[in-house]
Amino acid sequence: MGISKTAFMRGMQCSKMLWLDKHKPELKVIPPEVQNRLDEGNDFGDRAMAMFGDYEEMSVYLPGTTIPDTKAMVVKTREHLNLGTPVICEAAFSYYNNYCALDILRKTDQGYDIYEVKNSPAVADQFVKDVGFQYYIVSRCKVNIERVYIVTHGEDEKNPFVINDVTEQATGYSEWVNDNIWDLNRMAKEPEEIQVEVGKQCCEPYECWYYGYCHQLENK
Ligand code: SF4
Repeated sequence: MGISKTAFMRGMQCSKMLWLDKHKPELKVIPPEVQNRLDEGNDFGDRAMAMFGDYEEMSVYLPGTTIPDTKAMVVKTREHLNLGTPVICEAAFSYYNNYCALDILRKTDQGYDIYEVKNSPAVADQFVKDVGFQYYIVSRCKVNIERVYIVTHGEDEKNPFVINDVTEQATGYSEWVNDNIWDLNRMAKEPEEIQVEVGKQCCEPYECWYYGYCHQLENK
């Protein structure tokens, strides 16, 4: 198994975080306000799916669960690419088992545009890196990507979505992704817990959900 976009971004913040996600996820503590933010982000993302009208959603779940069946999603996405479906949501791709699901993939004359949806009033650098990972995976799956956009939320319900073109910045992260993705794959598979001293990365860019675990260990 390779790594997902989320795993990549978390691993870039701290390789131990990536390792704990894979081997000891029961130690994470997600603060309620963060969980609320994540839930709100999911609602916003669901609404954004219809921003270009009719769409096909690629989500498939393992039987009787809410766990995405990523392999089935990749197959379904490929079928819709072959059909020429104009708007594909949760479009899934896998490159050497490294995986991502795009919020919206929209057909253009020459290929597709990517739209990554963020429940935020402005574009942050983390979002651009995030969509840069997606661009890396999708372009290596031989899909021609023309433009890359981040959709942020507008001022009110009359203008709920703002489309920000981040093509140059996002595509510029491909080398950075390639320079790190294989090391992170290796680290995630280490049998022993990765040792990293606590530091700035425990709070930046996001507060780590293993903060209590690592800081307790440090204080013993
Ligand atoms: S608390 Fe700090 S050291 Fe521990 S996993 Fe998180 S970021 Fe890494």
